[in-house]
Amino acid sequence: MNTNGKPCVARPLAISLIIFALFVSPLAPTSNAQRNRGKRQSKSGDAAALASSKRNPEIARIVSEINASNIERTIRKLVSFGTRNTLSVQDNPTRGIGAARDWLYSEFQKVAESSEGRMTVEKQTFEQAPGKYQRIARTTTLTNIVATLRGTQPASENRLYVVSGHYDSMCTSPTDAECDAPGANDDASGTAAVLEMARVMAKYKFDATIIFMTVAGEEQGLVGSTYFAEQAKQKKMDIEAMFTNDIIGSSLGGNGVHDPHTVRVFSEGVPSSETTEEANVRRGVGGENDSISRQLARFIKETGERYVPSMRVMMVYRRDRYLRGGDHMPFVERGYAAVRFTEPNENYNHQHQNVRVENGIQYGDLPEFDDFNYIAQVARVNAANLAALALAPARPKNVGIVTTRLTNDTDLKWDANKEPDLAGYEIVWRDTTSPVWTNSKWIGNVTIYTMKGMSKDNFFFGVRAVDKDGNRSPVSYPKPVR
Ligand SMILES: [Zn+2]
Repeated sequence: MNTNGKPCVARPLAISLIIFALFVSPLAPTSNAQRNRGKRQSKSGDAAALASSKRNPEIARIVSEINASNIERTIRKLVSFGTRNTLSVQDNPTRGIGAARDWLYSEFQKVAESSEGRMTVEKQTFEQAPGKYQRIARTTTLTNIVATLRGTQPASENRLYVVSGHYDSMCTSPTDAECDAPGANDDASGTAAVLEMARVMAKYKFDATIIFMTVAGEEQGLVGSTYFAEQAKQKKMDIEAMFTNDIIGSSLGGNGVHDPHTVRVFSEGVPSSETTEEANVRRGVGGENDSISRQLARFIKETGERYVPSMRVMMVYRRDRYLRGGDHMPFVERGYAAVRFTEPNENYNHQHQNVRVENGIQYGDLPEFDDFNYIAQVARVNAANLAALALAPARPKNVGIVTTRLTNDTDLKWDANKEPDLAGYEIVWRDTTSPVWTNSKWIGNVTIYTMKGMSKDNFFFGVRAVDKDGNRSPVSYPKPVR
């Protein structure tokens, strides 16, 4: 299913074992993989054992330590502040966004104590003047809580992965700073998931750096996340992936559908940040479905379903829900790969609503409508992915399809990765109509490779890096090069 099926030639034992693992291990459950799963299992009865042997035990342990009770406790605490509207009071110790900010800061600081100094926590505070955002009418102080878990591999420590939730909330009116706005789902759920991931992961060492962030001002117009993303761009921070978790709280939709096994991951196809020149190239090569965010979504599906097999990652091929937005958008607009996690079916009675009963219907974003076990499952999908990304090599850079000769083969080249534990690379490919990568081939530690007899006209190709433990990077989609 995932390989060319040719036997590998003699190589040093360690590498051969990796190659063996790569050859026999299926790609993630994909539409094709699912269709062929029965076939594969009938051929090799222990397919399930092979798939689980491919799991990194450290990542599996992280996933198992995510705890729904902690998530529930965080959500109830956040709700207890009455409102977390960005315009609400900041100097009351028990009510308003200031109380929530201070409580989150101290919780992240407690978490950092178990990191042996690798995690630092800061308040990223800034003044937002009126004018830029309709929902901010006078100068307002906003604070993002940013907990940074430094990577331990010198070649990777400046490679960053960001996971975020927004801790601000709103009632029916986004500028009403007084009304109760419990925001138990939107977005105490995402905030609690991020804090729980930080608690579990602070004890572990990763090659690259992970930033656990809770931001303010989402409901005011993505204000906190925009500030962070703009600072990151100005400082040329190498953010390889950003996840926002927003409305991941309920497994029961307003449509009556109960689905605790699905999380939606939204990713854009055409990059928000591309220049006219880049758009011309994309049209010329048919790259509408291969942005860095789309590659990230495919990675999340593959990794999430491997480590949390009871969950289905439902990729949605659009930037966010129809005409709506979230905290990943300031990141994609600045050229970073970023996606949004959201529950499968929303309930609009419990979103952006004053708490009230009307005609026997309870409105408002209350904790009784959260499913804490579901939120923990979504946090597990996130944590597995963050760990997999931060343990794996960077995605290959400057990947190109060489166009100097007209040929029915496909010539690929890329820059060598810098990680000392790099094993080599895989070429992946799929039919042009396939939504996910369906095939892969281990090619060793080379930076140039020709796919013989496979025309770039007829397939999409990509390259990913693999380390000596079998950790794979997301796929890099090539540009045409000379
Ligand atoms: Zn939200």
